[in-house]
Amino acid sequence: MISNTFFTRSLLLLTLTTPVSADVAAQEQSAHVHGLAELMLAIEGEHIQIEILSPAESIVGFEHQASTPEEIAAYMHAKEQLSFAENVVQFSDGDCQLESVTVNAQGLAPKPEKQTHKHDHGNAHAHEHHHHAHGEKEKHHQEHVHHEHDEHHGAHAEINVSYDFHCHAIEKVSGASLTLFETFKGLEKISAMWVTEQKQGAATLTPTNSMLNLR
Ligand SMILES: [Zn+2]
Repeated sequence: MISNTFFTRSLLLLTLTTPVSADVAAQEQSAHVHGLAELMLAIEGEHIQIEILSPAESIVGFEHQASTPEEIAAYMHAKEQLSFAENVVQFSDGDCQLESVTVNAQGLAPKPEKQTHKHDHGNAHAHEHHHHAHGEKEKHHQEHVHHEHDEHHGAHAEINVSYDFHCHAIEKVSGASLTLFETFKGLEKISAMWVTEQKQGAATLTPTNSMLNLR
C-alpha cells in the first residue's frame, strides 16, 4: 500500500514548485468545467496511485441525485465502468495489477428511502393513499430545497475515483494511456499531474493525445 502521506507530500511539493500545477490547484478550488477532469498520479516503490476528479456531467450526464430509472441505471453503470481499471488507464508495460479502487459519487447516489416505505404497510389500499400523499409532499419539499441549492451553490456534482496499482516491473512503466476518453465520451480534456521519487510533471491530455509520459 502506498502511503497517503507520500502522495499528499508529493502533490504539495508539486504544487509549490511548478507554476503549471499551481494553476491546476487553483482550478480545483474554483472552476467546475464540464468536459474537463483532473488526474493525479504518483509512483512510489512498486505502487502507482491515481486519483481522478471529474464533473459528474461528463461521466453520467447529470449532476443531481439519481431518481429516474434511467438515471439510476446510468449511475450504476458508471460506477461499474470505473471499477475496471482498463476502462480508465493502461500502462505501457510493468506488469501492473489493480489492488484497490474507490469510487466516490455521493451527490448522485439514489435515496434508498422509498424501498423501506413499501414494506412498512400491510394493506395495499392504505399504502397507496399514504404513499401518494407523502410522495407529493416530499416532492414539493425536494423542489424547494433544490431551488435554494441552485441559487446559493450552483447545481454541480463531481465524481472522485482513486486507484492503487501494484507493478511487478515498475521501472518499465514509461507512460499511461488514458482510456477513459474512450469510455466516457463526455470528457474532452484532462489536466494531469504526476510525480515519481525522482521526477514530476504536468500535461494536458485530449482524446487524440491521451498518452501521459512519465519519464
Ligand atoms: Zn457541473
